[in-house]
Amino acid sequence: MTGRFFRLRTLRQLATLVGWVVVWALSPVHADESNRSESLILDLLITNAQIFDGRDALAGGPYQVHIQGQKIIAITATDSPVDAKQHIDAEGRWLIPGLIDAHVHPSIPLGFLALRDADPNYIAYRSAVTAEQMLRRGFTTVRDMGGPSFGLKRAIDEGLILGPRIFPSGAMVSQTSGHGDFRSPGAGDASGRDVMEQRGYGAIADGGSAVLAAVRSQLRQGASQIKVAAGGGLSSSYDPLDSVQYRADELRAAVQAAEDFGTYVAVHAYTPTAIRRSIEAGVKSIEHAHLIDEPTIKLMAERGVFLSPQAYLFSGAAFPLTGKAQGIAAGLDQMMRWAKQYDLPVAFGTDVFGSPRIYGLQANEFSIRLRWFSALEVLRQATSGNARLLALSGMRHPYREGKLGVIEPGAWADVLLLDDNPLDDITLLENAEQHIPLIIKNGEIIKNTLK
Ligand SMILES: [Zn+2]
Repeated sequence: MTGRFFRLRTLRQLATLVGWVVVWALSPVHADESNRSESLILDLLITNAQIFDGRDALAGGPYQVHIQGQKIIAITATDSPVDAKQHIDAEGRWLIPGLIDAHVHPSIPLGFLALRDADPNYIAYRSAVTAEQMLRRGFTTVRDMGGPSFGLKRAIDEGLILGPRIFPSGAMVSQTSGHGDFRSPGAGDASGRDVMEQRGYGAIADGGSAVLAAVRSQLRQGASQIKVAAGGGLSSSYDPLDSVQYRADELRAAVQAAEDFGTYVAVHAYTPTAIRRSIEAGVKSIEHAHLIDEPTIKLMAERGVFLSPQAYLFSGAAFPLTGKAQGIAAGLDQMMRWAKQYDLPVAFGTDVFGSPRIYGLQANEFSIRLRWFSALEVLRQATSGNARLLALSGMRHPYREGKLGVIEPGAWADVLLLDDNPLDDITLLENAEQHIPLIIKNGEIIKNTLK
């Protein structure tokens, strides 16, 4: 950590010297390369690498990838002359874009009961550790689908702590008795805001104008997209899985507030009725969806709505499948087969939250998807495919100055080096400690065990 802080301090002094301090302070990632002194810019040539560029394995090779500052600036044949200050010989290993998890909760590091009683600072420390561990698994970007992650994102972007780029949703917007109503069963007439709402886990709103206010409140804090609960859920107390949440006019209000801010709504929904109502209201991303039927999945395909499912969590290996979880798991296989058949845009997301053990299962989502998709398709989902989903944030995309999920000139320097070809063995991604010797995020070397 000493080196990181030293670098920040040096940068700050330099910025003052050249009179750029205002620009620097206002810059969202505050490390605009124009402000960096020549000697501080990462100027790295990775040589002898095979490349999966987020879309395909590049033919030929090996290649060399030139990283300067926070961006990839060139990909050339190995041995073509390039002037760079640092070199890393990949020795034939595979370079891939940093992974993206499209549905995760870094700011819910405890179970809901423990969360309610814990000191907020303790929760924040746990979230920071969680974020660094995600990054060390190779996830350089995550879409936070609910939870107070604005401060976590800021601390990471400012370089105070290590973690992935975060697309925050803020509090999940929910009706009374919906999936985001965390109030205890004994909460009387349920009219007050409880601690879970005060701290930004859920925002309870009923009726169009209340929904508008709840959505705008998340946007005000910097949400890059909005999460709404449109149907029953697993981890909530009052809502049967088959319950439909929010009327059409309430969903339309949420979508309009988001779209007026240049972004979109993602909904938590499992059943065809909840999913269909959401799509008709203009929702762009359906989270989970495990109980969908064939006509509704066809509608999603027609409208180009993203399906954001989780397989590993409901495989029976993560936790015992009883009660609601059993119902959700029952629909998984059929949904995935339809998703493949109708060529839906499928996001790669894990929904991990609540404990170190569950977070530790994040990368297990890769190989289980081989039941329905090829390794190439799964890798695309977790890189360029998810980047397409993140692009729906439009002008609220926090990292829109560069491309995510691809290796090409102009993309953010978010890359991983794998011991071997992930298209042949996707399980390499499930053991980062052993098989991912190099992790670079935003032009910063997070891990390098090659030296
Ligand atoms: Zn979730």
